[in-house]
Amino acid sequence: AAAVTIAALGKTYPNGTRALDAVSLTLAPGEIVAVVGGSGCGKSTLLRVLAGLDRASDGRVSVGGTPVEGPHPAVGIVFQEPRLLPWLNVADNVGFGLVTLPPAERRARVAETLSRVGLVGYGRRWPRELSGGQAQRVAIARALVTRPSVLLLDEPFSALDAFTRADLQDHLLDLWAESRPTLLLVTHDIEEALVLADRVVVLKPRPGRIAALHDVAVPRP
Ligand code: ADP
Ligand code: ADP
Repeated sequence: AAAVTIAALGKTYPNGTRALDAVSLTLAPGEIVAVVGGSGCGKSTLLRVLAGLDRASDGRVSVGGTPVEGPHPAVGIVFQEPRLLPWLNVADNVGFGLVTLPPAERRARVAETLSRVGLVGYGRRWPRELSGGQAQRVAIARALVTRPSVLLLDEPFSALDAFTRADLQDHLLDLWAESRPTLLLVTHDIEEALVLADRVVVLKPRPGRIAALHDVAVPRP
């Protein structure tokens, strides 16, 4: 079964802007797909609709065979900026989505996830005490802590310097290899797409429509 199905998806905003039109794409479980395109082509709109943060105007979107009608428990999302809550420490930011778990279990899960992103010992720090790369690792930990089967990444590394970006790209592939979630990365950086993805999809603007599919066919260990 497909992990993600996007079928004839269209999105028109209330002001009449047609952001996406007739977008169809299927992701297999564990696949890494990059959507590339310039500013304004509809990349963020596509991810927001997939995450259930915004509604499709037409067509349909499903995750694991279930239509997306609101925030989906099996979907994690990372934005360009970390968007951490400044009044919560790192551990509480990561544990935010685990409120239903007993505290001991939540603590254990948070500590385990922080160690997976290379941040052992950072739980009591405040967001303002982190570098950009560390803050983005916390955002990735927050997305992974619920063990999503689908991870959506919206230009996750474009605000970082080249060294930190390369480091986190490597780290992302290591994390992916641990649990092999289906990964959809949107980026304007074609090089990043080629480094990370199995498949690259080009989205053209006005309105956002898939123009090309390219199989990168990267051999994966
Ligand atoms: P990208 O992420 O590729 O830069 P977006 O998905 O943010 O593209 O935007 C796609 C198009 O939709 C653009 O023309 C943008 O101006 C428009 N758009 C985005 N958000 C809204 C909104 N809330 N209301 C109206 N138009 C929007
Ligand atoms: P460790 O080095 O044990 O991995 P962390 O830096 O991950 O430690 O966490 C530091 C401390 O933050 C932990 O001892 C933990 O008790 C505390 N903490 C406070 N709030 C939370 C929370 N919501 N979830 C997990 N740990 C929390």
